[in-house]
Amino acid sequence: MEIKFSEKTDKIIKNLALEAKNFGVKIYFVGGLVRDVIMGIEPLDIDILVAGNAINFISSLNFVDIKSIHKDFGTIKTQIEGLEIDFASTRKEIYPHSGCLPQVTELGCPIEDDLIRRDFTINAIALEILGDGNYRLIDRFSGCSDIKNKTLKVLHKNSYIDDPTRILRGLDFKLRFNFNFSDIDKDLINEYLKNPSREGLSVDRVVLTLNKLFSSNLRAKEAFGEFVDKKYYRILFDYKDLSCEKIFDAIEKFKIEDYSKVLIKYILDELFDVPELKTRLEIYKHFRHYSDDEICVYYAKSADKRALLYFSKLKGIKLEIKGSDLLNLGYKQGREIGVMLDKVLEAKLAENSSITTYQDELNFVRENPIL
Ligand code: ATP
Repeated sequence: MEIKFSEKTDKIIKNLALEAKNFGVKIYFVGGLVRDVIMGIEPLDIDILVAGNAINFISSLNFVDIKSIHKDFGTIKTQIEGLEIDFASTRKEIYPHSGCLPQVTELGCPIEDDLIRRDFTINAIALEILGDGNYRLIDRFSGCSDIKNKTLKVLHKNSYIDDPTRILRGLDFKLRFNFNFSDIDKDLINEYLKNPSREGLSVDRVVLTLNKLFSSNLRAKEAFGEFVDKKYYRILFDYKDLSCEKIFDAIEKFKIEDYSKVLIKYILDELFDVPELKTRLEIYKHFRHYSDDEICVYYAKSADKRALLYFSKLKGIKLEIKGSDLLNLGYKQGREIGVMLDKVLEAKLAENSSITTYQDELNFVRENPIL
């Protein structure tokens, strides 16, 4: 297998392979990088797996700039001649509860044991970096053939139970690469969703995975549609009233740029209460405490037109005058200043208001005294 890196990257990798040999460890490419190379996609990030203790190995090299170390997972972020490379130690993991964060039971295990903990066969292919520009393929789970057949398969039948975020990761790969879950995987997912166990579930991990799933605005609608239709929300809740149509209608109306944040809010957030608001001023004063994302989600859930009125007509309106201007006009410090400022604001918020400038506001104060 050949991997086309730039000349500089190639040199760094060959050097690392030589150092690894001297240190007595084997190093590998694994996961997304290998999958992408096989699919003809240029790899973006360089991650190297060390069959041994990556931290000890990297710490022994004087040409590496260490950025951060995560001891429990045996991972280390580095920069070598300006190139960012993440190193990880091979590890074995167990899941004490369904969906919780895995516990590392061994660091520096043989590569085969590390591959078993991975999500899909397509991500469980390793390439041993031999250092002469050649790589030894390790494909115990027939990941290469699954890439060819565009099929997503987990490595064992408890995989989705151990970590239901794999369902969402799978959906992401499905949409990104136009792959399909194998029939067995479809059954395993349905089985899991019928009776999901949420005790110990890492909601943070689910949210991180959702964030990745929805990160491309181009695919977000399809991803969210499938998340709802296939009831993947059951990873988190027994039932959730979600509508792809309503949230994307709101996303469009509220001109949302980062779909992912809004979609996650829509999935997780409870609806906030909106009391009776009679006037434009009351609507303005209520909604200004919320972000566009929150109001968008509120609108998708409630279809409350006041939210839209606030966003499209009222939100951009601000008073130019301040309390000090009213003091200059003879108002005394205290409640009346607040009342007058509200009066001006109310007039400015009115439909077809002619008050736009600082001068208009001052004139309004002069013409409508409350002294
Ligand atoms: P990309 O970055 O292109 O989305 P990737 O596969 O590199 O794809 P990462 O999230 O960086 O995605 O994961 C790196 C590797 O770690 C995966 O290829 C997979 O082998 C493993 N992995 C990640 N998440 C899980 C998981 N939840 N369960 C098991 N293995 C996982």
